[in-house]
Amino acid sequence: MFGLKKLLVLSVFVLLASCGKTSDKPFPKAVLVIHGGAGTILKSQMTDSIEKLYRNKLSEALLVGQAVIQNGGTSLDAVQSVIVVLENSPLFNAGKGAVFTEDGKNEMDASIMDGNSRKAGAVASVTHVKNPIMAARAVMEQSEHVMMIGNGAEKFAISQGLEMVDEDYFFTQKRFDQHKNALGDTVIVDPIQKKYGTVGAVALDGFGNLAAGTSTGGMTNKRFGRVGDAPIIGAGTYASNESCAVSATGHGEFFIRNVVAYDISALMTYKGLTVEEASDEVINGKLKAINAGGGVIALDREGNFAIPFNTPGMYRGFISLDGQPQVYIYGPKGE
Ligand code: ASP
Repeated sequence: MFGLKKLLVLSVFVLLASCGKTSDKPFPKAVLVIHGGAGTILKSQMTDSIEKLYRNKLSEALLVGQAVIQNGGTSLDAVQSVIVVLENSPLFNAGKGAVFTEDGKNEMDASIMDGNSRKAGAVASVTHVKNPIMAARAVMEQSEHVMMIGNGAEKFAISQGLEMVDEDYFFTQKRFDQHKNALGDTVIVDPIQKKYGTVGAVALDGFGNLAAGTSTGGMTNKRFGRVGDAPIIGAGTYASNESCAVSATGHGEFFIRNVVAYDISALMTYKGLTVEEASDEVINGKLKAINAGGGVIALDREGNFAIPFNTPGMYRGFISLDGQPQVYIYGPKGE
């Protein structure tokens, strides 16, 4: 049974939906969409028990975020709490479970953006912050900056009382083996060939505000100091109440060069495309045409959302205000 606060949140959603409804899709729509990375994720290479671990963790994250929204929390709170769950899991390439750099370290990037104020925060190349998404949020809310990197970002995280851990915390045998196996490769392992597991979330709260966040260890055997798209506002993360909230996963260099997250927002704003049309045009049109692998989650202010990806699979899921988690892993048909 919903309590009074939950009922209030629900009424605001119903009101927003009836005011701004532009499509014929039935309400309720999504209040939260998440991803755990795109890549070559094939049923044939997955065991039932590992698949279950992924499905359970994605469902758990969706329920944590849904509870935040149901209880009157903000979309920023929902995005952060979802990403913390995924960062704390060794299954995903973010926080615990981050991939290794060429010289055997874990350097993490994260960002978060508020669609209402369009404030944003990001950290890059952090190595001791347990939850980089919390450091990104602290940069947004507790500093006058948007992005901090390396030692400076870590000093700032300490000053904000965030939990710091030894580098060993980020060690997982699976990622270390991937790093060792890929050593000597002439190019960074491409996420089209391997699954990576960057995590991201986009959320819509009862105040009608959107937010987006992304967190990653980057790409296996990246050069030390390499920064991908995840912490770049407009590339891996973007949110505006005027258009949508976006979080990306894929080959970061392409996502930076093509300003993917902002491009989706701009297509909606300037060309009047829907969130589905805009994100499909970027992922399956522009990026596919240049062999840039990856996908996005994108959510608009009415709860319409899209999860296009041009790789064989993408860990992903969504949830409505009072529905059950919907989780998918493989091809675009939703299996
Ligand atoms: N986009 C991330 C990066 O390039 C990797 C990923 O999404 O898996 O750092």
